[in-house]
Order: sequence, then structure tokens, then C-alpha cells
Amino acid sequence: MELISLQPKNYRDYLPFIDEDTEDDLEFFIRGMKGKRVAMVSATAYGGGVAEKLHSLIPLINSMGVEMDWWVIKGELDFFKVTKKMHNGLQGEPGFLTEEEIATYLKCNRFNAGWLKNWDYDFMVVHDPQPAALIEDRPAGDRAHWIWRCHIDTSSPNQEYWSFLYRYIKQYSATIFTLEDYINRELPPPNLNTFITPSIDPLALKNIPLEEEEALKIVARYGVETDRPLISQISRFDPWKDPLGVIEAYKIVKKEFPAVQLALVGSMAADDPEGWDYLYHTLRRAGDDYDIKVVTNFNGVTDLEVNAFQIASDVLIQKSLREGFGLTVAEGLWKETPVIGGNAGGIRLQIEDGVTGFLVDTVEECAEKALILLRNPLLARQVAAAGKEKVRRQFLVTKNALDYLQLFFSLLRQTTVEK
Ligand code: UDP
Repeated sequence: MELISLQPKNYRDYLPFIDEDTEDDLEFFIRGMKGKRVAMVSATAYGGGVAEKLHSLIPLINSMGVEMDWWVIKGELDFFKVTKKMHNGLQGEPGFLTEEEIATYLKCNRFNAGWLKNWDYDFMVVHDPQPAALIEDRPAGDRAHWIWRCHIDTSSPNQEYWSFLYRYIKQYSATIFTLEDYINRELPPPNLNTFITPSIDPLALKNIPLEEEEALKIVARYGVETDRPLISQISRFDPWKDPLGVIEAYKIVKKEFPAVQLALVGSMAADDPEGWDYLYHTLRRAGDDYDIKVVTNFNGVTDLEVNAFQIASDVLIQKSLREGFGLTVAEGLWKETPVIGGNAGGIRLQIEDGVTGFLVDTVEECAEKALILLRNPLLARQVAAAGKEKVRRQFLVTKNALDYLQLFFSLLRQTTVEK
């Protein structure tokens, strides 16, 4: 396994974002972790949401004085092919693992478990299915509490895959799921099951404050006229994100509010043919309406530009038909821009309808709420401010750190009681 080195962070820089109560709670749990060591184990250090989150969380926890290392397993392409299949199967795709695939999976885990012999951690947090079977080869006398962190929606998996993984998951002292709904009801993990939502880092480039003027200058580079209202959706080009529905809603708004513009901002992976197909589909739907701007990382959209669009928009839409959590919602609310979200999955945790944003089920409802927000700047400001406050309390990386520390603490206490 490879030990990942990280850009340091300073916990003190985050204090302005948190309440005194949270600070007290954090300090209490930090004291409880004195002398304890944690290892996070995952499949990759770059690319994907899990890696992005760990790059924020681990240096933050380290700067609190809690020792936390990040290890990444070593694997060959054939192993990652199997784990990709597992990932899809755990989300419900049909199929099964062949004997050969199971052997590939276990061989790689056994190889990586070789590192465990020299380790001395109090907590092992293992992320997702790739390294889940490491626990099978824990050394004799290992005193670590093993926690499995699942970032996947395993609520209705292909049971073949879940039953296979369950052989290992059941050996963990605790699990962490993103939402309560993600737990497989037919065969839930038998030990302590906890829930931690994703979070955003207020000091990451994507979320740091930008002057309005700077944000406008950035979006203007993409053809947006900054003296006219702007609605945006920031997301992959994927049917579940419903960019076509966003265009339809925009067209309704446009009839009553001709000055409005729409930006669809999405990141594209070079090796994702489905994403490209859907981008072309979206472009066809946009047709020759030049007030619709479709921009991607191939036009130079990076974290800074995402930040700028989130700040410069009058209304943000995340019209997902299905959504795990929907980080773009938290990001948008954090910029104090009003957000209209599809009434789905984790968006419902972030948007309380009419209070911290609006939840919509249809194109018509989406258009209606956009019009309300564009016509009522005061209401828009109130909703946006309530949204930002909700994110501050519940969805910042400091809350994530607190949730982890709290879980470690309850496992330590459990051990003391058992003794
Ligand atoms: N994102 C980005 N560039 C884009 C579009 C999206 O960096 O052009 C980011 C977005 O800011 C968010 C993440 O990709 O941090 C998407 O996470 P979300 O949970 O909303 O959806 P997912 O793509 O994981 O389904």
C-alpha cells in the first residue's frame, strides 16, 4: 500500500465557520482521541468524490492533533475491472462474479493485507468495496476497531454482489453509510451502523469567497451577459441530472422573462461515451438559442469557474430525478445563491421546501419557482441565506470531522464498557 502525503490544513482557519458548541464538541472528542491512531484505506488518491473528500478531511483532522494516515491499496487493472463490476452490481446492475473474478479480488486484498503486519492503529477506516476484504487477513492480536465506510447506494443491490461482500462487512465493528436509505434492508450489516453525509470544504478553491465582480468577469468569458439574469445547472450530462428538463423549464421562464439566460456547466471525462452522447443530446435540445450556454472542462471550466457560476447566477437548479446527495446543492447554497432542487434523494436533506430553497417534481414547477425567485429578490435573498446557514451547520467538512470523531469515541467507550 502507498502512504499518501497531503497538503497541510489548519483547523484554526475553519473556526470562523463553526459555532462555539461545535468547537466544544470537537475539542471534547479530540481529547478523547489522545494517543490514538487512525488509518484510512481507499482504492485511489486522485479522481472521484471519495479521494476529493479525503484530501480535505484528513489534513483537517491531523491539524486537530489526531493522527490519521491515508493508505491507498495497490492493484492491477484486472482487479479494478472486478471492483468496477462490483460497484455497479451493488447499485443494482444484473450479473454475478465468476470464480476467477472472486479469486482476483481476494488475491489483491491478501497482497495488500501484507502491510497490516507492521501496523499499529487503533482505528481502520476502510472505504468502499475494493479493500473491504482486508479484514479477513487482519493479523492475530490486532486491536484496531474496523469501520467500513460505504459511499455507494446499496439500498437495492444485486443480492449476489451484496451477499458476497457481506462475508467481509459483517466482520467490521461499525459501518458508515451516506444516508439511512442506503442500507440494504434484506441483509443489513449486523454491527453499529452510522450515517455521515458528504460535505464541502469552505476553503477549497471551489468554495472560497470570490468578489462578485471577479465571478462576473469569469462567467462573461463564456458569453454570459452579466447585466441580464442567469440561471445555471452545474452537473454531469446525465439523464438522471435532467439537463433537458432544465432547458424546458428555462423555455417557460423565457416566455415571461425574455432577458433570462441559461448556463449548463458540466465536467466531461474523455473515456465516458455515455456522457458525450448526452452532451450532444443536450446541445441539440438547446438548438440555436444562443442564450443557452453549454460549457465544460473542455472549455476550461475548473473549480474556480464552477465557483464563479455558482456565485454569479441568480438562480441555481439541480433538477435531478435521482440523486445520491447532490454536492452541487450544498455548494450553491454555500454561495448564498437560491437553489431549486429535484425532489429526490439527498437533495431533500439539504433543501427544506420554501425555507432553504425549493423542491420540484416537474418542469412546470421548476419554471414556476424560478419565476418566483427572479421576481422576488427579497424572497430569493431570504431563502438563500437560510440555505447557507443550513450548509454551515450540517454540511461543512468540520461536521464531517466531528461525525468521525464521535464514532471513534463511541467505539472506544463500547470497548471500555465491554471490559
Ligand atoms: N463539478 C465540477 N465541474 C463541473 C460539474 C460538476 O467540478 O463542470 C463538480 C461539482 O461542483 C460537484 C461534483 O462535480 O462537486 C458533482 O457532485 P454531485 O454530488 O453533485 O453529483 P455526482 O456527479 O457525484 O452525481
